[in-house]
Amino acid sequence: MSLALGIDLGGTTARAAVVERGSGRIVESLKATWVDRSVAAVVRETAGLVNTLLSAHSGVRGSIGVGFAGMLNGPVVVNAPNLGWRNEDFGTPLCAAVGRPVQLVNDLSAAAWGEYSAGAAKGATDSFTVFVGTGVGSAIIANGALVTGANFVAGEFGHVKLMAEGGRRCGCGQDGCLEAYVGGARLELWMKEEGLAGTASQLEALAEAGDATARRLYDFAVGHLALAIANQVTVLNPGVLVLGGGVLSRCPGMVARIRDVVAQRSTVASSVLKIAMASLGDDSGLVGAALLS
Ligand SMILES: [Zn+2]
Repeated sequence: MSLALGIDLGGTTARAAVVERGSGRIVESLKATWVDRSVAAVVRETAGLVNTLLSAHSGVRGSIGVGFAGMLNGPVVVNAPNLGWRNEDFGTPLCAAVGRPVQLVNDLSAAAWGEYSAGAAKGATDSFTVFVGTGVGSAIIANGALVTGANFVAGEFGHVKLMAEGGRRCGCGQDGCLEAYVGGARLELWMKEEGLAGTASQLEALAEAGDATARRLYDFAVGHLALAIANQVTVLNPGVLVLGGGVLSRCPGMVARIRDVVAQRSTVASSVLKIAMASLGDDSGLVGAALLS
């Protein structure tokens, strides 16, 4: 049985797993919670998980894949806001500590690869994956390969602009980004400014209950999210559109709106397009990181 090892590394925890290459099945997984977020401490803790798993599973082959919530360039983490890292080489010391090559990939790319290999997009050659949770992220798989872009930042869908000028401030420092309206963290801030209590996932229920302010914010956010997705479908012609993340998975009305708008406004949304929810849950990034390695 051929095995791979992957890591899903976030701002508070990391999970590492040994995964079957053919099926994407998780054979064993371990978790660490950060006490110290310095690069040296995160390398040490992560290497501990990897070395424990490697000593228990002699069939692990190839490099170690790490799905990382941040902007990357080879082994270097260019920017990881939730760890407070800028231009830190994480891959090289981790590689030295585990004695194997290490491949860092963006967390959304890892999740998309997991869904493509073993989840909702299995069997397709072209997929577009959108996750809406705290932020908005996407990844593109075309002709069976992950699209990385010339500078490894392709798929920054959360930062497409909704208007030619101005708009709400986004966490990236620019104005008018999709994420500034739809990402859970920014949407909650907007709700608060408008006098609405609750989380981003609760906005749908507030709007459906007849709250006029909630309806206005919800229609703007979801309408623009759905249109942006429809426009990407027009450009990419994916076989499968995979939707997921903490907000989208809790808001069936958002998913229904996306389905309607893609059907009406995308010029290539033909009968071949399948729209599916991510099916691996919290494991899509973990499985994808392993299978990309
Ligand atoms: Zn932005």
